[in-house]
Amino acid sequence: MPTQMQAAVVTAFKTPLVLQEWDVPTPGPGQILVKTEACGVCHTDLHAANGDWPLKPTPPFIPGHEAIGIVVGLGAGVTRVREGDRVGVPWLYSACGHCEYCLSAWETVCDEAKFGGYTQNGGFAEYLLADPDYVAHIPKGLGPKEAAPLICAGITTYKGIKETEARPGEWIAISGCGGLGHLAIQYAKAMGLLVCAVDIEDGKLEHAKRLGADLTINAQTADPAEVLKKTTGGGAHGVLITAPSLPAFQQGVAMTRKRGTCVLVGLPPGGFPLDIFNLVAGAVTVRGSFVGTRQDMAECLDFAVRGKVKADIELQPLSAINTIFERLEHGDVPSRVVLDFTDTRIEATSAPTRDAVRTDPVTA
Ligand code: NAD
Ligand code: ZN
Ligand code: ZN
Repeated sequence: MPTQMQAAVVTAFKTPLVLQEWDVPTPGPGQILVKTEACGVCHTDLHAANGDWPLKPTPPFIPGHEAIGIVVGLGAGVTRVREGDRVGVPWLYSACGHCEYCLSAWETVCDEAKFGGYTQNGGFAEYLLADPDYVAHIPKGLGPKEAAPLICAGITTYKGIKETEARPGEWIAISGCGGLGHLAIQYAKAMGLLVCAVDIEDGKLEHAKRLGADLTINAQTADPAEVLKKTTGGGAHGVLITAPSLPAFQQGVAMTRKRGTCVLVGLPPGGFPLDIFNLVAGAVTVRGSFVGTRQDMAECLDFAVRGKVKADIELQPLSAINTIFERLEHGDVPSRVVLDFTDTRIEATSAPTRDAVRTDPVTA
């Protein structure tokens, strides 16, 4: 086991990440050590590195909450996972397990929740610590690179769609067709919904069509609410806003049918005005949704195992992280970039202190 690892570190907000050698952490009681195989890059990592939200992480920290890897170390008292298991270390790194939210399967909103790649160091590193009670168990038949986007983008959109309460045969509008949105379209189709995909880039909308969207609208060249209301006779029963952009929020609420539910998952900093009259008179619900529970995780991974959902991934080495962030910022990532820790190009660009050959057994 090496003592040093390569990590991409936020040393200060709004500055490029720095590739550094850090000590491989040691799992304390109740913790596990995971050797990273792959880690997706979520737009949330960009918000984290920019310090966009009221609750801020404390630099220096290692982002990344779509990490998949192999358990290589167990702290004292760990029985829920074994060495060699393949696990995912998600945004919901841990929760208290005892509060009213945890007890009612709403651990995602636990006041004591810790967040991977945010309050805890994450997967933009060759090793990371995790809480065995909150890791995702990656089923056989799902490779680490394909699984990575599912443990944030997948679970968040799967849960968000359920939160719209739209039923099979009804319309759902997905605003933003990037990392989250391209999976949302697939989950929604697999759940029997009619899908309207909204984005501001034609390339993303063409991809949405290939993924099964029944209707696509470019929000820069048309008013999505007007088009959708005309096509569906009143708007979407459910709306899921994944776009990290404030104009998408007002549009999303306007796209919602009377008695429908608009679910907010995109997290651009700031707020937006709500039209009280139309909400009240249309009995419209506007609801936030934050990742998903461990049960949602198991369900969302199962869709992928059964071939209903497949993340569209572009592999990159850890050393490319700043270019990836720039592309994300400008909407230039077609779906999801996944950092590939099995790619030998990483070895070529990092300090030569490690063994280039990975020999850990993959038993899961
Ligand atoms: P992404 O950059 O991969 O995709 C964003 C997409 O939105 C792009 O396709 C972009 O073209 C599109 N877009 C931008 N402006 C738009 C507009 N005005 N109208 C329609 N589409 C627009 O980002 P991502 O990784 O999918 O993350 C999206 C957002 O979701 C981020 O704010 C992220 O922090 C948030 N997020 C929230 C949760 C949660 O639990 N609520 C979980 C994960 C991510
Ligand atoms: Zn995420
Ligand atoms: Zn709790």
